[in-house]
Amino acid sequence: MRTFSLVCRACGAQRPYTTPIPTCPACGAGWLDAAYDLCALNGWQQQVAQYGANLWRYRDLLPVRDDQHIITMGEGWSPLLRAHNLGLMLGHGHIYIKDERQGPTGSFKDRQAAIAVSVLKEAGITELVVASTGNVAIAYAAYCARAGIKVWVFVPSGVPVEKMREVSLFGAEVIKVTGTYDQTKEIAAQFAARKQIFLDRGIKGFAAKEAMKTIAFETAEQLGAALAGEDPMLAHGNRFPWRAPAWYLQSVSGGLGPVGVMKGFSELNEMGLVQGMPKLGLFQPRGCAPMVQAFAQGCRTAVNVPHPTTDIITLATGMPGEAYEVLYDLLQQHGGNFLDVTDVEAFQALRVVAEMDGISVEPATAVTFAGLFKLVRQGVIRADEVVVINCSGHTFPVEKQIIGDHFTRDMTVKEPEDKHGHSDGLLTALEQLDARVKRIAIIEDNPDSARLIRRILQAQGEFLIEEAYDGASGLALIRRSRPNLLILDLMMPGLDGFQIIEIMQTEPALRHIPIIVITAKELTAIESQRLRGKIKGLLQKGAFMDSDLLNDIQQALP
Ligand SMILES: *Cc1c(COP(=O)(O)O)cnc(C)c1O
Ligand SMILES: [Zn+2]
Repeated sequence: MRTFSLVCRACGAQRPYTTPIPTCPACGAGWLDAAYDLCALNGWQQQVAQYGANLWRYRDLLPVRDDQHIITMGEGWSPLLRAHNLGLMLGHGHIYIKDERQGPTGSFKDRQAAIAVSVLKEAGITELVVASTGNVAIAYAAYCARAGIKVWVFVPSGVPVEKMREVSLFGAEVIKVTGTYDQTKEIAAQFAARKQIFLDRGIKGFAAKEAMKTIAFETAEQLGAALAGEDPMLAHGNRFPWRAPAWYLQSVSGGLGPVGVMKGFSELNEMGLVQGMPKLGLFQPRGCAPMVQAFAQGCRTAVNVPHPTTDIITLATGMPGEAYEVLYDLLQQHGGNFLDVTDVEAFQALRVVAEMDGISVEPATAVTFAGLFKLVRQGVIRADEVVVINCSGHTFPVEKQIIGDHFTRDMTVKEPEDKHGHSDGLLTALEQLDARVKRIAIIEDNPDSARLIRRILQAQGEFLIEEAYDGASGLALIRRSRPNLLILDLMMPGLDGFQIIEIMQTEPALRHIPIIVITAKELTAIESQRLRGKIKGLLQKGAFMDSDLLNDIQQALP
């Protein structure tokens, strides 16, 4: 049987854990943390490696005392994915995505539910009240079903109906409150008090923070492999020293994720398993950004946002309370940044991440990616710093405001005219699709850049793309195929981009093909002069977004 203590953040009182308590018996404050005897865990790294690939591999530092009470669906040990294409676009080679979409109910709240519900099971609790902006509701409903715990879920009415339906599918009682999330929380608390039912304390309770710290443990372990040049999804075991990233990025609502993750990294530091703490990149939607506003003004207390205007309900916590103070202190101590992004910026980022790296996220997660784009472009995140992004939740089903109704290409197959006629309706239809397509040639000797440009164009879906990888074959390509547009690199061995442009000027058949130049370096005055009037657009490698390129193309195409 494992042991641990509970510590009160307000008065520091510490007592051995026996059963979950709502408040500190010494002072009545609500914020409690679990504490362990870290010195006793000699050789913990080796111990962990013998456990399974889920978050319970860290059970020696988790608040469930006896394995038999663990409720698990294999949560945790989510993939740490290198963001290749996004990284190319941003000119940043060390971006890693912690893919929390792959939890049993599709968000990182599965960690919280697994641990909180196991704690309740161990304490013999059979009924629970919880308030949620959506994902906690789904995760708790699923885990409570397995644990045989009845759960009353309070959600604000703005939560997408698909999510509420899933909560109900798990047999939970769903109470939809017409009001903000903060009002919903208040009503849930009153209900729990009146009915004498256990109330989940969220970030103030100890279980939730312990759950989130497993993100830090996994990140350190997987990053060890990644930074040793191995793919953490393919490398075996933990042969590598654990590592902390320079940055941990997440969108915040109540702030549980970063608070728990930083507790995890500080325990790893204390055990000497990693050196240093990450900086925090934390993001909120502009329509509900109390923490961002307070931080910008240098305040340690946030002013509440009583009426959030963001459509991203997952993040609509208008009253951050004590959590903001904790985050403020962490940022003062370890560095970092609080930024807001608009809903529109988030939706754009959502599409970019899906199109570039095959990762479909929910709008709340897209806020993090929009924030990443900003911090990299502002130079706040330096190109040599390792960044880990909490890819917190899946878009499934895709919400209607992201992809409207008209996203398919509709095709009607005509029946053959006569009995002997050829059944070529399908082919004709396909040819018609093709005829509308514009042809774009890419001449680029760097295969990564070529791949990035092709990917951006492919995701747009209506271009025929031809590529050449050096100047001479590039020139042959455009002479042969007469594309509607040329995307051209300047620096290439042999015939370079400047020479190709000059040759094209002398050939009547090529002179009118619009050119967009993509360059790796700042141009000198003389080089700019050589290009003047001859090109339609100029983009700097690693510093343009997909939308910049597509805009230039739209303008340049005849
Ligand atoms: C809960 C949630 C967040 C915000 O997390 P906190 O750390 O609780 O502020 C972000 N994204 C998704 C998908 C979430 O479910
Ligand atoms: Zn106390």
